Amino acid sequence: FTSKLPDVGTTIFTVMSKLAHQEGAINLAQGFPGFDSDPKLQQLVTKAMSDGYNQYAPMPGVYGLREQIANKINTLYGSDYHPESEVTVTAGATQAIYTIVSAFIRPEDEVIVLKPAYDCYEPAVTVNGGTIVPIQLKAPLYKVNWSAVERAITPKTKMLFINTPHNPTGTILDKEDMMELSRILKGTDIILLSDEVYEHIVFDGKKHESVARYPELRARSFITASFGKTFHNTGWKMGYTVAPKALMEEFQKVHQFNVFSAHHPSQKAFATYLKEPEHYLKLNDFFQQKRDLFLDLIKDSRFKVTPAAGTYFQMLDYSEITQEEDVEFAKRLTKDHKVASIPTSVFNLHQEDFKMLRFCFAKDDETLKKAATILCEI
Ligand code: PMP
Ligand code: GLN
Repeated sequence: FTSKLPDVGTTIFTVMSKLAHQEGAINLAQGFPGFDSDPKLQQLVTKAMSDGYNQYAPMPGVYGLREQIANKINTLYGSDYHPESEVTVTAGATQAIYTIVSAFIRPEDEVIVLKPAYDCYEPAVTVNGGTIVPIQLKAPLYKVNWSAVERAITPKTKMLFINTPHNPTGTILDKEDMMELSRILKGTDIILLSDEVYEHIVFDGKKHESVARYPELRARSFITASFGKTFHNTGWKMGYTVAPKALMEEFQKVHQFNVFSAHHPSQKAFATYLKEPEHYLKLNDFFQQKRDLFLDLIKDSRFKVTPAAGTYFQMLDYSEITQEEDVEFAKRLTKDHKVASIPTSVFNLHQEDFKMLRFCFAKDDETLKKAATILCEI
């Protein structure tokens, strides 16, 4: 056979977590919290199991959960999604993203992706025969050059990916970005995939600009979300996607055959847990404290910092320390200094001007202190 993905190896998250484990290093690489999800939520899952919710959930998800998702979006972003026809519960955002791409992308379709980009986007497009059209975001601010995006649009452009708050850079799109994007897409048939898995992790009093707020965008968009990111249980692989009915119908045609439905007991639990908005609204402050602690702890190090505006990742510029390639330096840091991070070239961040590693600060304070002490000595 010939590989459909000849240039794809094992994802960097697996590589770095394995190396961190082998080397006994503090793992600030793969993005997952170093603390557990709320015991109340865990009890709701075990209760759902003992109540007998152990067989297939309905294909689009438990209705009560879809209602809660629609309510949340309506309250936060003032946009109505019908729980029956416009919301699907998924096995994490990764499954939603793959399913969206495979439902719409045909060979030779073009998909515009802002680079650096989260690593699951490109293979999903490639395996379905599509062509990636990359637009580079430039360090240190990573602002989107919307005229470049506009120039990249051709009659073959089928889809555009955005991700706010953005992994790995920690930047967010603002109202002006959304207005520009609305202007560019108006009059086209381009489908927007808006990856908003970090919607509840935005700092410094800023507001998350969901595409749900913008009618021109909402009408052509899938929004993807991840309960793993919001409720500290990435291992449960739960999330959802919302989109207008006609798009969602196409999504479900594929969803029903690539996963059918997601974990039933968790859906029952989230349906109850989401009734209290405090459970997700407190996340901004919780993670802002972590970011601020981490930045304060490393302020005397030789790493240069532009504070993350969202996500639980902080990019650190190591150009004053070494001119090594980022993959090489990340490995050396893990082996010799026992702190693991993610090299950003794997997300296609050009490294000519800036040398960046990504660190996950979703860890308990003690772990952050230990890691920072090491980083200050390098
Ligand atoms: N998109 C982005 C930007 C991510 O960082 C991640 C990692 N959580 C995902 C999608 C995938 O989310 P999930 O773990 O729910 O599949
Ligand atoms: N989203 C996580 C990150 O960016 C990783 C998820 C995964 O390992 N697939 O670190």
